[in-house]
Amino acid sequence: MPPVMKKKVLYLFSDTGGGHRSAANAIIKAVEYLRPGRYNQEMVDAFAQCSSFLNVFAKLYAPVIKYSPELWGLLYYWLDDQKKLAQLEKISRPFILKDLTKLITARRPELIVSVHPMVNHLTVQAIRASGLKIPFVVVITDPVTLHRAWIKPETDLVIVGTKEARQNAVSYGMPEKKVKVIGMPIDPKFLIAQKTKRTKEDKFTILLMGGGEGAGKMGEIIKEFGKARFDGRLIAICGRNKSLEEELKKKAAGFSFELEVIGFTDQVPEIMGRSDLIITKAGPGTIAEALAKNLPIIITSWLPGQEEGNVDYVVKEKVGKVSKDPKKVVELVNRIRVSGEFEAMKKNIKRVSRPDAALGIAKELFKYL
Ligand code: UDP
Repeated sequence: MPPVMKKKVLYLFSDTGGGHRSAANAIIKAVEYLRPGRYNQEMVDAFAQCSSFLNVFAKLYAPVIKYSPELWGLLYYWLDDQKKLAQLEKISRPFILKDLTKLITARRPELIVSVHPMVNHLTVQAIRASGLKIPFVVVITDPVTLHRAWIKPETDLVIVGTKEARQNAVSYGMPEKKVKVIGMPIDPKFLIAQKTKRTKEDKFTILLMGGGEGAGKMGEIIKEFGKARFDGRLIAICGRNKSLEEELKKKAAGFSFELEVIGFTDQVPEIMGRSDLIITKAGPGTIAEALAKNLPIIITSWLPGQEEGNVDYVVKEKVGKVSKDPKKVVELVNRIRVSGEFEAMKKNIKRVSRPDAALGIAKELFKYL
């Protein structure tokens, strides 16, 4: 019998932060979970593989959000304009379109899925240039407010996390019938690990995160917990921020409480499973994951523009609090623990969390396969 050719699905992303890679991985795992071994799924870092020149700009994301989030905000709002986006697309085209088209023609996938705003306009053109008829689905990884760059009306389907995001997509020109609200794609492991129970004997455990790049004022916040003689445990996930990891590891022994310092890890679901609360940057991936694990959220930083909507969402849904001031963060934690707000937040989280969203997205993709 000739070997059965598996249908191919290509996932386009770029490693700006950790959220886009995590989203693609989550969908791939969900597809595999529901239909094991049926598809050949490949992740393509569009800029790294098709344009070393444009990849230089993608690589600037980490230092810019770390050292100058304000600059990021300026760029975000400046580019949130149809005319400027069209110009940007025109300027970038010569650096990527040929190789992206070549890649699509060589792989001949049955379906292309994008989880990144900056590749969508170019992908629509590359599919057209390839002469192939390939459905193109965009999964938006910003839960509420989204940048205009996500939207290209020629896309076959846009999947979003909330009704607010759907309204935004439609206001940017996406036909309503091509936008579906399912939820933010998070690793199916978060669904399974949800069964981890915290007992009364476990020390109150706070997880600190700053997205894939370990952004935010983690060091200062931990210092404040030290001053306040915190009686629980802290876990700090530093992501790819090596200098933060080294700095915290050196200081860990000097605190009265236990501080566990972790570098980039693939164990976020398990670590969230043994935590009670999270202090984090308003990254969309981390928020959706924390909600899936029933962790109340204290937001301490956010990217201007891109993540502001996430902050409003957390406050509006009453699943967390916000403070940029490290000292106030510690006061907030102490206050919600004694006031009953902590338990109320956990109830609210049950209402909004969608730990199974990736499975829902996978089922939607099957309609094209
Ligand atoms: N993440 C991870 N390991 C780490 C740090 C982060 O897997 O050590 C994941 C995290 O679980 C989340 C993503 O990276 O899925 C971060 O995405 P988010 O949207 O929160 O922020 P971004 O990094 O994109 O700014």
